Amino acid sequence: MIDPSLLRRLQRIVGPENVSAGRANAEVYSYDASLAVGPPDAIVLPGDTQQTADVLRAAGEARVPCVARGFGTNLSGGSVAADGGLIVELSRLNRILEVRPEGRYAVVQPGVTNLELQNALAPKGTFYAPDPASQKVSTLGGNVGENSGGPHCLKYGVTTNHVLGMTVVLAGGEVVPLGSAALDPPGYDLRGVLVGSEGTLAIVTELIVRVLPLPESVVTLLAVYDDVADAARSVSDVIAAGIVPATLEMMDATVIRAVEQSKPCGYPLDAAAVLIAEVDGPAADLDRQAGRIRELCEANRCREVRRAADAAERDLLWAGPTRGLRGDCPARAELPGGRLHRAANPLAGGPGPGRCNCP
Ligand SMILES: Cc1cc2nc3c(=O)[nH]c(=O)nc-3n(C[C@H](O)[C@H](O)[C@H](O)COP(=O)(O)OP(=O)(O)OC[C@H]3O[C@@H](n4cnc5c(N)ncnc54)[C@H](O)[C@@H]3O)c2cc1C
Repeated sequence: MIDPSLLRRLQRIVGPENVSAGRANAEVYSYDASLAVGPPDAIVLPGDTQQTADVLRAAGEARVPCVARGFGTNLSGGSVAADGGLIVELSRLNRILEVRPEGRYAVVQPGVTNLELQNALAPKGTFYAPDPASQKVSTLGGNVGENSGGPHCLKYGVTTNHVLGMTVVLAGGEVVPLGSAALDPPGYDLRGVLVGSEGTLAIVTELIVRVLPLPESVVTLLAVYDDVADAARSVSDVIAAGIVPATLEMMDATVIRAVEQSKPCGYPLDAAAVLIAEVDGPAADLDRQAGRIRELCEANRCREVRRAADAAERDLLWAGPTRGLRGDCPARAELPGGRLHRAANPLAGGPGPGRCNCP
């Protein structure tokens, strides 16, 4: 139960319409995409950095815990108020403040969704590399909290590699700028401490993110397998051959069937696994890279390799993974070298069926 005087103070800071202590809202905000549950005592929606700072100061003085929240799609319980207290919801901070293709950066507020940023960047010939499958419904603040990756992380890295600067608010209400649009700003580099800290160290109220030029050309391949271990071996062989695809995504039979049943994408229903491999960059070299990937897949007994003829076919091949199905596959970094095929193969004692970003 929240103290009425704190509630009144919060209402003065953000406006009464942006504070809720009702039971219905507490229920709505009591979960995220994990199994964690915990109703907050109140939900506060600040509208800018100053209001966020004032909210944290007021809560700190009243010794009430605060949990930052984007759109609540994380899988680790990070946006649940497990011990009650305040949810500080950042959805009102939803503006793209600056897009600077010539400086290769954009300034955004944390409540902008990943896809909204991508849509704003594409007409300017640029993109933001981290692309979690939840990009339609996850905020950039949440992506920072979770250090999100996605299919592109194989070639381009995860969120921490693309955050240049931040404005953050500490628990006592102090506002701290970190980094800048420059690639090598002076002072301690604390960005990596914040990214992935699940909101436990500070609340991000502004972000400077790296933007990249859209690749000149893209080739997308779908390789079909009768054995999931052959698909996993192909992943290892492609990487060992020195090719760095923009994405390399594997789905096993369970996921293929689930995708096809929900909305067909053209994956063969009798396949044990499919591998989606994409190379991007200057057009001149892509045919060679795609040809080499095809050879390596064929050497691993793939049944068929299809090449997307156009953007529509490419989008269809990607519809499965981007629908957000996730499996239990650990990151490649957690696996002993060369053992990906064993981990991905349930018969070899691996973690079982699913979908796998293959960094
Ligand atoms: C269907 C689905 C597909 C997914 N696909 C991927 C994927 O491909 N790759 C991947 O890496 N992840 C994936 N995820 C998980 C991913 O971590 C989240 O979707 C996303 O990063 C969370 O964003 P959000 O806006 O929902 O944040 P929330 O879930 O609300 O918050 C996430 C964490 O960040 C903190 N936080 C939120 N905003 C701020 C802020 N402004 N300042 C400081 N901390 C903050 C919260 O306290 C919490 O700890 C997926 C999740 C789902 C449900």
